[in-house]
Amino acid sequence: MGGPSPADVRARLLPWYDANRRDLPWRRTRNPYRILVAEYLLQRTRIKSGTPYYERFLKRFPTVQDLAAAPLDDVLAVWEGLGFYGRARNLHAAARVIVEEHRGRIPQSYEALASLPGIGPYTAGAVASIAFGIRVPAVDGNVTRVIARVFRIREDVTTGTVRRRIAEIAARLVSEDRPGAFNQAMMELGATVCTPLAPACPKCPLERLCLARAAGEERDLPVSSRSRSAPVVPVVFGLVTADDRVLVVRRPRGRLLGGLWALPGESGVGARRKRISRGRFGPRPGSRFVWGRGGRTWTARSPT
Ligand code: SF4
Repeated sequence: MGGPSPADVRARLLPWYDANRRDLPWRRTRNPYRILVAEYLLQRTRIKSGTPYYERFLKRFPTVQDLAAAPLDDVLAVWEGLGFYGRARNLHAAARVIVEEHRGRIPQSYEALASLPGIGPYTAGAVASIAFGIRVPAVDGNVTRVIARVFRIREDVTTGTVRRRIAEIAARLVSEDRPGAFNQAMMELGATVCTPLAPACPKCPLERLCLARAAGEERDLPVSSRSRSAPVVPVVFGLVTADDRVLVVRRPRGRLLGGLWALPGESGVGARRKRISRGRFGPRPGSRFVWGRGGRTWTARSPT
């Protein structure tokens, strides 16, 4: 493998994690369902904005059976405002698979977890190690950055070859005794100390082992060819009111914010060029629409 030994990394990282880890709701439980919900919900989401959603979601759907029995509309309503709604649909679909094919129990193997809708290697590894103590890695963006720096990987981390190499290193690093704590420690280090733009090396438990730090390259790594800029989607909406009501329509599935209720309009390439007219933005034939209450925000429900 080259670089620091797994034993040295574990010996420094785990005590640091025990002393410095943030007290987060999903770290106070070993309940696999709650851990599964956290891993779906927190993908590409900041902890500060995701935490209230996590608590609200579990209050509304306290068990996997509750979630599986709920209509998708109810799940999307609780998720509303968090973004990346595909995660909500996948979590709902996964709950149904768990109830129908696993007798309501979260599967206890990496392979079975990885076969659930919307679960990739990271989420399967996180749930397997944290909930069930299985010795598998969980490589997210934070872990990739820490490994690229500690092992001074100077190639593009978005390529398949380098990603595989990082996954192999991560697999060897994982603690045999405390795989869940080790994976969370790596993520915690990446989130709070080994941050993308300003790594706090003097505070880092791995400073003496870190090859990028020794070479003065900690701010140059990891190398990534992928653009960080978020895509810009042009949108145009029409506001149709009557008395104190606002017309909302259900957006087509399979498109941006598909299945959610919104003002009638268009999004995507060409939306800017489209003119708002009463005919164009009225409900499409066959689409379902309701009148919602006026105001800055409102919740619309399916009329059926
Ligand atoms: Fe990251 Fe610096 Fe720690 Fe290396 S020493 S892992 S670059 S924070």
